[in-house]
Amino acid sequence: MTQERTLSIIKPDATRRNLIGKIITKFEDGGLKIVAQKKIQLTQKLAEDFYAVHKDRPFYSDLVNFMISGPVVVQVLEGDDAVIRNREIMGATNPAEAADGTIRKEFAESLEANSVHGSDSLDNAKIEIEFFFDKNEIVG
Ligand code: ADP
Ligand code: MG
Repeated sequence: MTQERTLSIIKPDATRRNLIGKIITKFEDGGLKIVAQKKIQLTQKLAEDFYAVHKDRPFYSDLVNFMISGPVVVQVLEGDDAVIRNREIMGATNPAEAADGTIRKEFAESLEANSVHGSDSLDNAKIEIEFFFDKNEIVG
């Protein structure tokens, strides 16, 4: 097992329903440690840039509008195999397919409003962490 860091976002559907604490508890109970965290309002430009990899997908503009519909919590999670571990704790993208006990199974509203984002690889985790955080904002 390797110590890794990954980027997590608690999405607007979850902040709106006051679920930040319940979601953070899932990460901590799952063995991940929060080493950076801030609640922010994304701008359209930031949301477009963050999800640029999806810009040709039919859901892109809806996704950007959803991500700017309220505040988000961006955080860096650290732990053994943090990238995959976080994805396990989150559950499948579509909540209808997410395993019992996962964040998306318990809290997601829909395929789009699925409560959390998590980096999908270690390379993307590094890029996404740098997108939101300066080095001195991450405190192990
Ligand atoms: P994940 O967040 O699990 O890595 P993707 O990277 O494939 O999933 O998609 C990014 C986000 O875009 C999803 O979390 C979800 O909010 C939204 N999304 C993905 N697929 C669809 C879809 N078919 N329709 C609407 N929204 C979608
Ligand atoms: Mg993804």
